Amino acid sequence: MGKESLSATETRDMMVAVADKIIEAEPILTDADRALGDGDHGVGMERGMNAVKEALASEEFTSVGKVFMSVGMAMMSSMGGASGAVFGTLFRSGGKAIKDSETFGAAEAATFFKEGTDGVMTRGGAKPGDKTMVDALLPAAEKGAEVADQPVCDALAAIAGAAAAGRDASEDMIATMGRAKTLGEKSLGKPDAGAVSVAIIAKTMADFAAS
Ligand code: ADP
Ligand code: MG
Repeated sequence: MGKESLSATETRDMMVAVADKIIEAEPILTDADRALGDGDHGVGMERGMNAVKEALASEEFTSVGKVFMSVGMAMMSSMGGASGAVFGTLFRSGGKAIKDSETFGAAEAATFFKEGTDGVMTRGGAKPGDKTMVDALLPAAEKGAEVADQPVCDALAAIAGAAAAGRDASEDMIATMGRAKTLGEKSLGKPDAGAVSVAIIAKTMADFAAS
């Protein structure tokens, strides 16, 4: 049976599951960034997610927003670089927008992805089609608005599907931001590494809520 909504403790456990999945996916993320960038995305995310696990283990959470803010702060301070800033911003901005909520339902999931994506776009300056994590995040945020009245398990499944479709769509984009920019048309045919991470994050959230 899937979950209607998650408590703060369950939200924390969900983010520990996300951290474990990203750590496990390090080789996949490394390969994705090696194809188009400098190959450090997997190791950077692994470092960030180890810091996330440490931060989440050392605190009791009563608000779901604080869980995500804690994730964002841990990523920002441990990863550094462009992705530390943008992934940290995703979780900090998304978490801040729902900081007083005691439960994580579909409405909070929708707000999280909307405000998190806005934060990433404002901070990083990437637009849809630039072949970045935004190309997985924006479809996820748009889908979130459509499913905000459903049980969180169904909403997250729909959001994860949209993120995966966005990751796949990034294969057909020519990079116009970041390191892959210099590749021009050679960036075609492969997904953006950050979009791969976003799809894994959303899928793991959905799998947690489904169980
Ligand atoms: P770096 O670019 O410093 O090597 P990573 O390899 O860890 O950092 O992460 C690269 C990923 O971060 C890209 O694939 C992209 O999705 C995301 N990214 C980098 N810069 C931006 C930005 N300005 N806006 C949105 N996403 C970005
Ligand atoms: Mg890189």
